[in-house]
Amino acid sequence: TEFISANDLASLLDVSVNEIISTCMSLGMFVSINQRLDAEAITIIADEFGYDVEFTKDIEEEIVEEEEDKPEDLVERAPIVTIMGHVDHGKTSLLDYIRRSKVTAAEAGGITQHIGAYDVRTKDGHKIAFLDTPGHEAFTAMRARGAKITDVAIIVIAADDSIMPQTKEAINHAQVAGVPMIFAINKVDKPNANPNKIKEELANMNLLVEEWGGKYQSQDISAKTGQGVDELLEKVLLEAEILELKANPNKNAVGTVIEASLDKGRGYVATVMIQAGTLHVGDVMVAGSHYGRVKAMFDHTGKKLKEAGPSTPIQILGLSGAPQAGDSLKVYDNEREAREIANSREQIQREQSLRTKKHITLDEIGRRL
Ligand code: GDP
Ligand code: MG
Repeated sequence: TEFISANDLASLLDVSVNEIISTCMSLGMFVSINQRLDAEAITIIADEFGYDVEFTKDIEEEIVEEEEDKPEDLVERAPIVTIMGHVDHGKTSLLDYIRRSKVTAAEAGGITQHIGAYDVRTKDGHKIAFLDTPGHEAFTAMRARGAKITDVAIIVIAADDSIMPQTKEAINHAQVAGVPMIFAINKVDKPNANPNKIKEELANMNLLVEEWGGKYQSQDISAKTGQGVDELLEKVLLEAEILELKANPNKNAVGTVIEASLDKGRGYVATVMIQAGTLHVGDVMVAGSHYGRVKAMFDHTGKKLKEAGPSTPIQILGLSGAPQAGDSLKVYDNEREAREIANSREQIQREQSLRTKKHITLDEIGRRL
């Protein structure tokens, strides 16, 4: 099993990738920046930097184990989409275009907040949730913490460029995570755009697009003019239909923290993607090693919500601290139980940081292949 790239390991260990590479060389291993490393290599390298590594299973398994849903309780939920691709190929522009054009002004009061995620409604009323943290770094950081929230990955490739290293890395991340990809071939408004060249390069990587008889959906788009963006969203919905995404909205909420911070006026603010169940104002929640009652929650337009169901990204007030991106959020019936869980997690964290060796945890990426 291969886990993460040398580059990602460098950021987890908080050292430069050059240090990783030269350490490897001194150990007789020759690795490149984007090369994915197996468990043995990660353990050896981490040890050199004073870390010991724990390899864990997905926390999603833990979540699923706890409350088996009956098939009749499951209802369709919106897909959760991440946009990845090489720098300057148009990830931010695409996210911005979608946010601008699909979040209606009335809904938004004219202003949209940046909360790390948002959801949109397509022309025919279907919901799609977007993680607003472009780049594979966020994706990798989440997965390294065991979180799995992306249903569909849009891989943006600029039609006036080529498949670049980060394009390959994004494709690789989606593949090992078992997340279906849709290729968005961007910047087709440019006179020198050549989408066919990109499709050819994909074909050379064994990624044949549908219009050429393959299985991968692709869409020519312009994040600048909006050309093809509706069609792209249609393709996301098609992919979602195939995946038969479902969740039980009638149970205690389960979600994943996308980002969290301390806001001077409002206290700790966490952006959370609800994945199952429904979160209500007043619910007792645990997120990472913090707990609290939901004091208030907001959607990405700043609108106050009383409750939030599956595939809804929300901002929550009321936690006792800032959990980390990728931490799970769970609702408990009993406040004391919630406090005990948060406290024992905090204690484990404290003990771990006291050990001589620092500690990282990696989710077993690739397990689903
Ligand atoms: P990111 O690094 O992937 O987030 O890329 P950006 O969204 O920041 O885009 C990089 C540059 O390409 C910016 O100058 C954008 O204005 C430009 N750009 C992005 N999409 C398009 C497009 O569809 N057409 C054109 N002409 N330019 C684009
Ligand atoms: Mg960007």
